[in-house]
Amino acid sequence: MDLHSTPKTTIVIFGATGDLAKRKLFPSIFNLYQAGKLSEEFAVVGLARREWSNFTLREVVNESISSANDDLIEKFCKHFYYLPFDVTRNDSYINLDKLLKEVEDVYGIPGNRIFYMSTSPEFFGTIASNLKAHQLTETKGWTRLIIEKPFGRDAASAEQLNNEISQAFSEDEIYRIDHYLGKDMVQNIEVIRFANSIFEPLWNNHYISNVQITLSETLGVEDRGGYYDTSGAMRDMVQNHVLQLVSLLAMDPPIRLTPEEVRHEKIKVLRALKPVATDNASEYFVRGQYIPGIMNDQEVPGYRSEESVSPKSITETFVAGKLQIENHRWTGVPFYIRTGKRLESKTTKVIIEFKNMPLNLYFNGEKDTSNLLSINIQPVEGITLLLNGKKEGTSGEAVPVQLDYNNKNDDISSTPEAYERLIYNCLLGDATNFAHSDEVLLSWKYVDPILKAWQSDKVEIAEYESGTMGPKASDDLLAKDGNHWWPVN
Ligand code: NAP
Repeated sequence: MDLHSTPKTTIVIFGATGDLAKRKLFPSIFNLYQAGKLSEEFAVVGLARREWSNFTLREVVNESISSANDDLIEKFCKHFYYLPFDVTRNDSYINLDKLLKEVEDVYGIPGNRIFYMSTSPEFFGTIASNLKAHQLTETKGWTRLIIEKPFGRDAASAEQLNNEISQAFSEDEIYRIDHYLGKDMVQNIEVIRFANSIFEPLWNNHYISNVQITLSETLGVEDRGGYYDTSGAMRDMVQNHVLQLVSLLAMDPPIRLTPEEVRHEKIKVLRALKPVATDNASEYFVRGQYIPGIMNDQEVPGYRSEESVSPKSITETFVAGKLQIENHRWTGVPFYIRTGKRLESKTTKVIIEFKNMPLNLYFNGEKDTSNLLSINIQPVEGITLLLNGKKEGTSGEAVPVQLDYNNKNDDISSTPEAYERLIYNCLLGDATNFAHSDEVLLSWKYVDPILKAWQSDKVEIAEYESGTMGPKASDDLLAKDGNHWWPVN
């Protein structure tokens, strides 16, 4: 990240008393402040229904920050203002207009406003239309909207939401958060691909056998059972994060690193995805649901026994799929994806399996000698390249040799950093690492027919024991092609 200081701005957070604000947004804004990346002339206006005061909000912000520098925290917290606010009430917007003008006067902020929607998605449209109706987006500066996931629950609702928010904001003012795009190693995919002459010439169906993407979690649904049961892994992970990773891995080199050019290439990948029809979804996609198991020596419950989950639920907590990209570069290369909860390990990893040598004198064509490039996104961040080398000694045998590059040695979660980077990008007006409306709609159009197949309990939902890497059907999906999942731990 360049050390550009950001323009004088007010960040308005809808849902400031919520979980996301406390866990991610306040700490991220503080980290930017501490690093000197935030202009001193900034303000944060927190909104929610609770009858908090500036003082209460500042206390909560203080608690959310871990830093030993008490003076700095105190100075930082003074930039926070709270307004009791109901998104559905007119007078709330009238009060907000007044407060924003006052705060902008205090700091000399020229009307630059970021509206951060960190509240229930059902309110996104209402907020946008009210901002427009009360002229809160008409300032002498710029106005931008950051919008959280989920962005719709299918193509039709995403399109409707787009229509609603685009009444108040133009596409280049809308920053749709996909926090995976804020992760360092995800941003590194483009650098690895487009700044290394040894990879790009091999990045196609002549040399790559298949691509494997794993986003696995060890946690179950925790206290989010009510939300999750209406969502499932396809909506929660595949439509957004997984398809974003697919497009970054498969896109052609952009002609420039501008948001427009990068998005243009990513959109081309999504357009080239071979649609999966509802009738044959089972051939390409597997859905699973966790049953009880032992994790860390403790018995954990099955999904259907989780709090706020229907005991008859057919919501998937696991998805595995085979995606096909029909273009010159990728036809014939399966992109296998899998994601799920209560799996053996918490890992986000991409493995590129290269084709075997046409004649490998050392291994007689055995498949497990393949060269593998692993892009390790979390918890370990780095790259691993598996090559073959000569075994020491006189036997003349070849053995796998692993080259490892670790971005960080410690195991810190990169999520707060992702938010930090994305808020900073938005302050600077750089939308590269946010999802464009076309990306969102194309992703929904791809997953909708599969979700339709899964609406009924006629399509099998494969059970998997908690603490494993998913149902056997996920292994079978690759075995049909003569492939297998490479270990991710
Ligand atoms: P949350 O804890 O339920 O917070 C919701 C917020 O909205 C609260 O501040 C609530 O405060 C406020 N609110 C509810 N009704 C309101 C109304 N009528 N008028 C004004 N404010 C209202 O939710 P969250 O976990 O922070 O999530 C916020 C958004 O981020 C959601 O879209 C979620 O899908 C997304 N997200 C969250 C996470 C996460 O880790 N939490 C991760 C990814 C995406 P009052 O009750 O005081 O009004």
